Amino acid sequence: MDVSLLTRTLTLRAAWRVRDGWSPERLAAHQQRALHLLRRHAYARSPFYRRHHSGLRQAPLNELPPVTKADLMDSFDDAVTAPGLLLSDLEDHLRHLTHQGRDPGLPWRRHWWVAATAGTTGRRGVFVWDRGEWATVLASYARANDWAGVHVGLRDPLRVAVVSSLIPTHQSAVVGASLHSPLVPTLRLDATAPIEQTVAALNGFAPRLLVGYASALRPLAAQQSSGRLHIAPQAVMSASEHLSAPAAGEMAAAWRSEPYDVYAATETAGIASPCVLRRRHLYEDLVVCESVNVDGAPVPPGTTGAKLLVTVLFSRTLPLIRYELTDRVRLGGHECPCGRPFRVLESVEGRVEDVLHLPANHGVVAVHPNVLHEVLDELGATGWQVLQLPEGLRVLLTGSPPVDTGTVESRLRDRLRRAGATPGRIDVEHVHNLYRTALGKVPLVRALPYGAAGEPPP
Ligand SMILES: [Zn+2]
Repeated sequence: MDVSLLTRTLTLRAAWRVRDGWSPERLAAHQQRALHLLRRHAYARSPFYRRHHSGLRQAPLNELPPVTKADLMDSFDDAVTAPGLLLSDLEDHLRHLTHQGRDPGLPWRRHWWVAATAGTTGRRGVFVWDRGEWATVLASYARANDWAGVHVGLRDPLRVAVVSSLIPTHQSAVVGASLHSPLVPTLRLDATAPIEQTVAALNGFAPRLLVGYASALRPLAAQQSSGRLHIAPQAVMSASEHLSAPAAGEMAAAWRSEPYDVYAATETAGIASPCVLRRRHLYEDLVVCESVNVDGAPVPPGTTGAKLLVTVLFSRTLPLIRYELTDRVRLGGHECPCGRPFRVLESVEGRVEDVLHLPANHGVVAVHPNVLHEVLDELGATGWQVLQLPEGLRVLLTGSPPVDTGTVESRLRDRLRRAGATPGRIDVEHVHNLYRTALGKVPLVRALPYGAAGEPPP
């Protein structure tokens, strides 16, 4: 256990509670000041940002060019602000985590924490944090617990069970290993393990907090409702995947409390989580979020953007200024009775990669995943997935939905036609298991082309 890291994390959490009571003006002033310090640091120490923002050092944030993962990885050694920190060395370290079973919670060279993004779509990213940044990352994940009313203290340890990926280079593994201590005993379970095994482990551990992928939590809710699983978590947190209304309903019925839908990314750590009124607020004191259209212009509140540009105010080792996340999100105004100054994140409608490009009468039409949700969420299936193949769509359903496959096919075809598509073949099948990525996630949509990792469809 790294006592100084835990102490720093707890101190930040306590300090941040005050911010829940800030006015919007106070928050804006904080953002301006933090942004100024971040840019000054980046221009002093990062040749990449000096080039990337050349001639724009005094320009407002929204006039700066965005940064993609590819930009950053191509120029990594130039973008980091710590001399001598090389991407090749970090890659070596990540290989050691994978192959030599090193504890991912221990800092590399006693100073750095490192994690990689999955790379199932597009390029893999490598991110690095120093001690102060890593404490902030940990505190940002813990804020979701604070807002949900789940507390931790010396006399009140927090038993956490996480059902996700055990891949040691994934940020959730590094976070879990960093926090594991008598204060936060953590049980990590593999989302791809047989359910009986997961149920037995959870019954034995009796978590006070249950965290996992939506696709892993939903079958566990069914196990709880049938009496095989009997845990009483104070809160259930769904992360990393889309949480549908039917899945949330089943979890609420099983554990007598609505799940908390947390939004986070490796690059930013926590971005948003719900208050007790279950409205998701952006962590705008940590991350400046701009939802933009395909051309990079801001979209108004209530409208879904094509990408989310994030500026991570606490990033120093690898500054992230208008970094592009391919998530399509809809932001709201400042309207929540809980009084927090942070804007509400109304929805995360999946990623750009989840958009299907289907044949239309004239060319191709982009179909957003919400079209699929409208039809497939209502079937009463325990899970669904749409895989795009060259000849059409393959729809997989789990559980025993009370609707026959022909009806599903015609409902989906009608809805896709109304979206302007002429979808070609639609095959609907009942399956026992949905297709999982290498990380154990269950993507709702797998659009063509298949990911760079080359996993075959099931
Ligand atoms: Zn609220």
